[in-house]
Amino acid sequence: LTAELAGIAGEPAETPDGAAINLYVNTGLAAEIERALEIGCAGVGLHRTEFPFMVSDRFPGEEEQARLYREVLQAFAPLPVTLRTLDVGGDKPLPYFPTHDENPFLGWRGLRMTLDHPEIFLTQLRAMLRASVGLDNLRLMFPMVTRVEEAEQAAALVQRAREELAEEGVETRAPLVGAMVEVPAAVYQAESLARRLDFLSIGSNDLAQYLLAVDRNNSRVASLYDELHPAVLRAVADVAEMARRLGKPVSVCGSMAGEPAIAPLLLAMGMEGLSMSSGRLLRVKWVLRTISLSESRDLLAECLACETPGAVRRLINAAMDRHS
Ligand code: PEP
Ligand code: MG
Repeated sequence: LTAELAGIAGEPAETPDGAAINLYVNTGLAAEIERALEIGCAGVGLHRTEFPFMVSDRFPGEEEQARLYREVLQAFAPLPVTLRTLDVGGDKPLPYFPTHDENPFLGWRGLRMTLDHPEIFLTQLRAMLRASVGLDNLRLMFPMVTRVEEAEQAAALVQRAREELAEEGVETRAPLVGAMVEVPAAVYQAESLARRLDFLSIGSNDLAQYLLAVDRNNSRVASLYDELHPAVLRAVADVAEMARRLGKPVSVCGSMAGEPAIAPLLLAMGMEGLSMSSGRLLRVKWVLRTISLSESRDLLAECLACETPGAVRRLINAAMDRHS
């Protein structure tokens, strides 16, 4: 880490003309928590909960999960911590719970699986809610939302988990609840989702994969995977616009949020926050503190008019060169 980057750890993520954005971290492993606390951040925009499930030989119980969630909620309190409900299936299979999907990425993954197994889902939701008692920083987020009913059902199960706990004498606060926008259908229904929920978060990794129909892990087509494809940029910008119209915060938690050259575009789209691995945060902050919102807005307008990923890339590289 250069001295210049280390020097801005305590400074706000704010453009020279005064536009601020929240820089959150993505977490999942205990080591990531320590690192994030060292460099400073606005909280956790995506806590992936699947790792303990993947390294176990059975579903972790409520107590065990609650302990893990408490650790991360407590570490960052009073800053918000966004716990994402279980997102297994796809590229994250559980050895003790085979899904037998011929097309795992189009199959039984994320919210689809947990809504089919309310006992698994409720155990996790109860653990998350119990972990938050006495803290006020829990946010809940659902992966792979494809239909508004899924978001409604999931939100209803959160309510049910709270009622169950209340009957057992455990009073919990209603957490903010949001959906990931990572399936193309959710892009077109971002407004309907935003109306029903407290926030949206764009999972650009899956969204790009599904928009472009490219499996990144397949080397034959990996070069077609491109976050700067004009269709991806347009989708991300449209979600931001729809959420903004309803006054609901929208952030990005896929890897494009941690790309210093892309961050100014996301700021100009009106994102409330960017969530990234902690190793990226200071570089992103440096760029945001260097390029003004007005310049980023002009750049965004030019990029959205591009017809090829290469044209977008040339524009943002030229902008970065002007400031390096
Ligand atoms: C995403 O899809 O962009 C995302 C953040 O979720 P994951 O990478 O865990 O699938
Ligand atoms: Mg995803």
